[in-house]
Amino acid sequence: NQSNAPKKKMGDTELIGITCKKSEDLAEWYQQVIVKGEMLEFYDVPGCYIYQPGSYRIWEFIQDFFNERIRKMEVENCYFPLFITEANLQREKDHIEGFAAEVAWVTEGGKNKLEKRIAVRPTSETAMYSFYSKKIRSHRDLPLKLNQWNNVVRWEFKHPMPFIRSREFLWQEGHTAHLTEAEAGKEVLEILDHYAAIYEDLLAVPVVKGRKTVNEQFPGAHYTTTIEGFIPAVGRGIQAATSHCLGQHFAKMFDIRVEDPNQEVKEGEKRNKLLVWQNSWGFTTRSIGVMILIHGDDKGLVIPPRVANKQVVIVPVGINVKTTDADRQKLYDEVDAMSRTLKSAGVRVACDYREGYSPGYKFNDWEMKGVPLRLEFGPKDSANGVVTTSRRDQEGGAKDTIPIPDLATAVPALLEKIQADMFKKASDEYAAHRKIVRDWADFVPTLNEKNVVIAPHCTGGECEDEIKKDSSGQIEGQEVDVRAPSMGAKSLCIPAEQPEELQEGAKCVNPKCGKEAKMWVMFGRSY
Ligand code: AMP
Repeated sequence: NQSNAPKKKMGDTELIGITCKKSEDLAEWYQQVIVKGEMLEFYDVPGCYIYQPGSYRIWEFIQDFFNERIRKMEVENCYFPLFITEANLQREKDHIEGFAAEVAWVTEGGKNKLEKRIAVRPTSETAMYSFYSKKIRSHRDLPLKLNQWNNVVRWEFKHPMPFIRSREFLWQEGHTAHLTEAEAGKEVLEILDHYAAIYEDLLAVPVVKGRKTVNEQFPGAHYTTTIEGFIPAVGRGIQAATSHCLGQHFAKMFDIRVEDPNQEVKEGEKRNKLLVWQNSWGFTTRSIGVMILIHGDDKGLVIPPRVANKQVVIVPVGINVKTTDADRQKLYDEVDAMSRTLKSAGVRVACDYREGYSPGYKFNDWEMKGVPLRLEFGPKDSANGVVTTSRRDQEGGAKDTIPIPDLATAVPALLEKIQADMFKKASDEYAAHRKIVRDWADFVPTLNEKNVVIAPHCTGGECEDEIKKDSSGQIEGQEVDVRAPSMGAKSLCIPAEQPEELQEGAKCVNPKCGKEAKMWVMFGRSY
């Protein structure tokens, strides 16, 4: 038995749940929660993990949601090979410079050394664009919009963290080509909206939309838009997903051109060749980790109803040694009937008939797995014609009852309420930790209070590096917090929604810079 949930003997009532507190040791807590909650299992290649059905189901919900949205945009799914020739990978200079340190290479096939080593894709721009060059013969072939759901490998040397930063991860990567910059730009933002909707509407995770500064943009991109999340337990930002306008850099290197359809040509004159405008956008399994880090608590996972494999668990209670077989069967039959009612109402439901486990044990077990709603049903409930509810997202369960005839409407409504409350709680918390800072004197102390900071900034790259350096290390008189290493703050994004207009002549928050501030930029320690 591979399960990490300890098996209990008859009469045992206590489950070995999560043994440390989220607020005391986040790393240990996270590891226990994902393993004991049966989301993920460790593997003997560092940085690679086993996605158990619990987490893979969430990925499928994300896939369904996103596929529906991109099909409406006429994006088509396809598949390209895992391997990229070195020559292709190097075609775009900034791109290879950005990825060189993380590329995994195949150098042998069986017993033979390969003549030329082959890269395992860290992303597929260079795997796909020779094909784009062939496929796009005329402006009539535009826009070309392809997406693939696949795995990529980035041999990261930063400390790996399940879901959040792994060497192999699952994602979708969309790659599109357009005739005009305007058309490409519109799509970049449309995709960013869909990404934000996955986080906010499915995972109940708030994000801030924005644009990356030049320092932080995708290698080879014209510009990068992003959604940025926040992990309150450590006060760190996390890049939630990115949608890039690649401009014409790759088109130039891969020779993706079409004749200008709008040019007025005289007889015998040739049409100008235009480089296409390209986008790429990616959303990864990191999202599952962000969701777990934000919603999980000291009892384990808390899964938002819309992505919960099981939204409701019904646990029969009040059965003891004096209960007759007939009474037990009657109770089970009633539970069965409730389950059927809920299933026909579209609710994903489990019934826990396990013998030899106490209700308390079962409660803890389902709580650890994060099932959003528990229904308890015993002889007393049966006599009263009700079922007792316990919400996973509320301390103490916020116990209540639902009359049995109302189940089919009341349970879906309660699940939606749980979903909305989870989002609101996380959203309020993020908002409370986005602090406007105007003076450098407040910058590091505000970060140290587990906030991200929105400050006036010149948007210059060197200035950003300086801020990163000067905001690292401890500040005088303050103890080092070992759980949130005092790493430097990097720019997370230029928020699309600027907090207010910058005052005339406002200076960059970095006193060593002295330049005029151009935008409010969100800075933070980050994953
Ligand atoms: P990129 O192609 O570099 O723009 O990456 C797309 C998205 O992948 C980023 O916005 C991150 O959210 C996510 N990501 C980057 N590196 C990793 C990793 N090692 N593991 C999981 N997700 C990642």
